[in-house]
Order: sequence, then C-alpha cells, then structure tokens
Amino acid sequence: MSDLKGKYAVVTGGARGIGAAVVKRFVAEGAAGVAIWDYDESAAKETAALYPGDRVLAIRCDVSDRENVKRCAEQTMEAFGRIDILVNNAGICRDALFVNMSEDQWDKVLRTNLNGTYYCTAEVVPGMIASGYGKIVNISSSAAHGNVGQANYSASKAAILGLTKTLARELAAKGITVNAVSPCFIETDMMNGIPETLSQTILRMIPMRRMGTTDELAGAVLFLAGDDSRFVTGIELPVNGGMFT
Ligand code: NDP
Repeated sequence: MSDLKGKYAVVTGGARGIGAAVVKRFVAEGAAGVAIWDYDESAAKETAALYPGDRVLAIRCDVSDRENVKRCAEQTMEAFGRIDILVNNAGICRDALFVNMSEDQWDKVLRTNLNGTYYCTAEVVPGMIASGYGKIVNISSSAAHGNVGQANYSASKAAILGLTKTLARELAAKGITVNAVSPCFIETDMMNGIPETLSQTILRMIPMRRMGTTDELAGAVLFLAGDDSRFVTGIELPVNGGMFT
C-alpha cells in the first residue's frame, strides 16, 4: 500500500484538474499536509476548503516566477517544517503549428512548464537532501514524443523527461527518487477546449476507446510518491489507455 502517513507534500497547479485529484488522493492516503501552489488563488482556496482543518494549504503561486516560488517554499516550510513530496504538475499549452507560433507562445509555455518545474525543484531539493528523503513526481505528457501543433509544449515536456532522468541519477544516493508520469487525454479543462469532431477522432485512436480520469492519473502519481516505488527512479510512466505514439 502506498501509504503517505506523516508525509508533507506540495502539488503545483493543485487547484483543479489532475492536481486537485492528486491532492484528494494524498489526503485520503493519510498525508499530514498538502500545499497547493497554484496561479488561481480562489480556486486553490476552494479546493483546500474541501478538507477539514489546516491539512491542505492554498498558496498563490506563479511557478514561472522564481522569487514567487521561493516565497511559497518559505511559507510552506513555516507551516509544515519539511517537504517530503513534490509533484510538479502546473502546466499550460498555447498550441499552434510551428510556422505560426509566436515567440510569446513559445516563451509562456517553456517558462511555465519547464522553468516552473526547475524553480520548484530547486527550492525543495536542498531540504530533501538534508533529511535524506524525497519523492519528486514530474508531470510530463505523451506529447513529449512529438505532436503536431505543440512544438512548444512538446519541447517543454521532453525537457522535463531529461531533467527527471538526470536528477534521478544525481539524487539516488541521497534517498530521493525522481520520476515522471506521461498522461494522454485525461478529462480536464485542458481537454475540454477540444472541438467535438477532434475529440471523436481522438477516441478512435485510443485503444481503450475512452479518455482517462483524473483519479486514474492520481493513482499513478500516488505509486511514485509512496514507498512502494522506493527502488524506482528515473522512469517515465505512461498513463494513456494503450495509446503509444
Ligand atoms: P488544468 O489546466 O486543468 O489545470 C492546471 C492547473 O495549473 C490550473 O489550476 C492552473 O491555474 C495551474 N497553473 C497554470 N499555470 C500556472 C502557473 N504559472 N503557476 C501555478 N499554477 C499554474 O490542467 P490538467 O489538470 O489537465 O493538467 C495538469 C498537468 O498534466 C499539466 O502539466 C499538463 O500539461 C499535463 N497533461 C495533461 C493532460 C490531459 O489530458 N489533461 C495530458 C498530458 C499532460 P489556472 O486555472 O489559473 O490556469
């Protein structure tokens, strides 16, 4: 059982979608505290209010802003005293064919998805090294392996895999595991923007003929955040209904 009793976690982008499902699962598995670091403060507060007491903290955070991330880490350490688990989940997409993609679209996605993962990890790793324990789960995407219209997003998610595999090697001897989950077509607001005809085409491409649920994704994250995966580091776990590109 991936029991999180006594563990303190940070989930970026935890106000809604996959992140909110991860928060729910972590609380259900006994985490002592979960801090939501999210851009949308009121949504983060609404999510935190679903849980009794001060177990879930809502902290306004723009992961693409290094100083902001630093303050969030300080605030979390004041409240919890330590961070055992970091889930780098916050992510955005700004899709366009490469020939039409603006530099702004490129920058926004890279700054949020890749720099955000770097900033949060950089703030949390020294404490994990000091305590000799840490679990980092990075949310990549099946798009890391290439997807039309997503050069910026794909590049950011592929870089996250490189970061994951490198940190896994560098931090293994310090008691820290670093793994990635690559979702594909999970039902969230990010997917709801897709036109109906495209979503029917997508469903035909997925061997299981359905999209995944946020709870199914949260189960994969829980495995990598809990002690059942203590000898697992540097992997990319695809959660995709059998749809390999
Ligand atoms: P959602 O858009 O539903 O939720 C993302 C959350 O992250 C939102 O609360 C959002 O806040 C927050 N966020 C966005 N930018 C920032 C920022 N700069 N700092 C802090 N928080 C931020 O996304 P999903 O739940 O669908 O996706 C979660 C992760 O999973 C992402 O990394 C995504 O790339 C990845 N993924 C999702 C797939 C899917 O099928 N859904 C497939 C593959 C990967 P706000 O509401 O203010 O934007």
